[in-house]
Amino acid sequence: MPLALSVVTQERTVLERRDVLRLIVPTTEGQITVLPSHAPLMASLAIGELVVVVPGQQIPLAIHGGFIQVARDEVTVLADAAEHVEEIDEQRAEAARERAQRRLAGPRAGPEAVDLLRAQLALQRALVRLRVRRRRGGATGVPSAR
Ligand code: ATP
Repeated sequence: MPLALSVVTQERTVLERRDVLRLIVPTTEGQITVLPSHAPLMASLAIGELVVVVPGQQIPLAIHGGFIQVARDEVTVLADAAEHVEEIDEQRAEAARERAQRRLAGPRAGPEAVDLLRAQLALQRALVRLRVRRRRGGATGVPSAR
């Protein structure tokens, strides 16, 4: 039996499928693969690429933290933010990357000090968006589904 998946954020449902063969998930503990009949799981998500494998297709999503729950072939992804490849605004991500890199190069102390963690997270989100966007049509690092 395939997996039923929903990927939701506070604002919207990003993806709903009931024919998922495999899911490659960036967790804070590293990348995991979820197959049907997976043991129950709860994990926190990293900022990275989530790949959803359905028959004949791989659906990549940029995912920006949150939680995943797996129970009885039902997978729920509660993401802080998530985007399909075609939703990603490359120019916006490029601008966010430049902004974050400029901040990271700024002063580390004093009144102008940057919030380092915040800038690092913004940079990570931007880099993941650019990577997912630019990978369109290219290899995703997983073998294609039957
Ligand atoms: P920015 O500085 O450009 O706002 P951000 O990383 O701070 O980027 P988030 O707080 O992660 O943005 O996301 C806010 C909302 O905007 C979310 O709904 C997210 O999906 C969307 N979003 C952010 N960047 C992009 C992008 N480059 N393309 C499409 N949607 C984006």
